[in-house]
Amino acid sequence: MTGRDRWDAVVLGAGLGGMLAAAALARHMDRVLIVERDRLPAGAEWRRGVPQARHAHNLMTAGHTAMDRLLPGLRRDLEAAGMVKVGMPRDMLLLTAGGWMPRFPTPLFMMTGSRALIDQVVRDRLRADPRIRFLEQTEAVGLVTEGPDATVVRGVRVRGSGTRDGVRELSADFVVDATGRTSRAPEWLRALGCQPPPESVVDAKVAYATCVFDPPPGHEADWKCILLQSTPQAPRQGILNPIEEGRWMVSLAAMGGRRPPRDHEEFLRFAGTLRSHVLHDVLRRARPVTPVHGSGRTENRRRHYERLRRWPDRFLVLGDGAGALNPSYGQGMSVAACSAVALDEALTAAGGDPAGIARPLRKKIAKCIDTAWAIAATGDLAYPWAVSEADLTTRLALRYLYRVVDVSTWSPAAARALLDVNQMVASAKAVFRPRVVAAVLRGPRPSPEQPPTLSATPSLAHADSH
Ligand SMILES: Cc1cc2nc3c(=O)[nH]c(=O)nc-3n(C[C@H](O)[C@H](O)[C@H](O)COP(=O)(O)OP(=O)(O)OC[C@H]3O[C@@H](n4cnc5c(N)ncnc54)[C@H](O)[C@@H]3O)c2cc1C
Repeated sequence: MTGRDRWDAVVLGAGLGGMLAAAALARHMDRVLIVERDRLPAGAEWRRGVPQARHAHNLMTAGHTAMDRLLPGLRRDLEAAGMVKVGMPRDMLLLTAGGWMPRFPTPLFMMTGSRALIDQVVRDRLRADPRIRFLEQTEAVGLVTEGPDATVVRGVRVRGSGTRDGVRELSADFVVDATGRTSRAPEWLRALGCQPPPESVVDAKVAYATCVFDPPPGHEADWKCILLQSTPQAPRQGILNPIEEGRWMVSLAAMGGRRPPRDHEEFLRFAGTLRSHVLHDVLRRARPVTPVHGSGRTENRRRHYERLRRWPDRFLVLGDGAGALNPSYGQGMSVAACSAVALDEALTAAGGDPAGIARPLRKKIAKCIDTAWAIAATGDLAYPWAVSEADLTTRLALRYLYRVVDVSTWSPAAARALLDVNQMVASAKAVFRPRVVAAVLRGPRPSPEQPPTLSATPSLAHADSH
């Protein structure tokens, strides 16, 4: 093995999960290599390895906070590149399963922009760091181990992607698999004599179609973003996100295996079938600037690596490969960012030495997934076709969750609890805060037909105390 092939850490996959893991590792190590199957673009361009980049991506409060912690000033860089801050729920027309959420100020905000732009800004920061290198057009094909019964991972096997080049080895003190939904870690572990991880799957069978628009000339509104959520009775969803260059990225979702729209005409017609006409009304006057693109896999799928008794040291799986979520809830990037922060914290506690950190870290990564899973997978159990193994406790939790959604139309305490969980700044326990329970006991109230305006907000100030 040549000196060039020896690394302090090797990260597999240059998606957001892999890049943020590399940022965490580089805070403690001098030579971090990111192995990526694709050729990486210089700018904010779509590429094959991240097909979902064509669809609307919301970066939640916990996500941009974690990213800014790993790469200080990143939030400022994202904003300078054109991402938009959307105050939650002040700047959003949000139709939940219970009705319109009132619009009031909170410190929470999500950031919206094209996924290709987010990746480019992060990639540029990493490229400027002499401790981090990218190895492009190279595919990871297995793990290299040492010790009795392959107890320690000591590197990876790679080969040039799309070439007939032979397999070679890269040696590393720590290996992170961030290859996303197509991760082959279960297969690699099986080859080492480990059990594959148990999986939980909840599949609401969501298919997306996305198109970018120029807003109508002279467009003015007191909102920045529209989200019309689905219900089991109306299993269709639509989101309009403001993105760079003043454009709108609009994603429509069909559920239960139904076909999403495929061209501009169908797209507009589908928007007209959503639970409110507000999105259709603005799109009718807007100009599409891209074709309509469809999506691939969207099921909630967890691999419970934390439950495996046998685990090789110096190896970790994070990002979609450990827990992929229904994108309707917009949490995958934030889970990956929080997992990378957990990696940074573990290395800090170990004085930068990665020996022995992997086993306990699996539990921390699982905790990062828990909050998002409680909303995405539990919420999806309401759809009768979602495959599930829900027990009675989960079903009761689901009923209560939907009650909280119902009262969030008039109770700011309930709305705030839902947003805190969705923005991942609080655990799912937030929905049991005393004022939320009190609102649930008082029950739902009729929700207005029309979306709320900002001027309707002051009347809500004391809603929870009456
Ligand atoms: C339609 C859709 C919409 C979404 N919207 C949102 C949203 O609004 N908000 C949000 O937070 N999340 C959203 N997500 C989820 C989000 O895209 C992911 O959670 C996020 O990209 C983190 O993924 P990752 O880095 O783990 O994997 P990926 O982004 O999938 O990256 C994996 C990388 O690994 C590379 N790779 C794969 N195999 C190999 C190999 N063997 N060797 C080398 N490289 C390899 C791939 O080329 C790719 O670059 C959405 C997902 C979908 C499908």
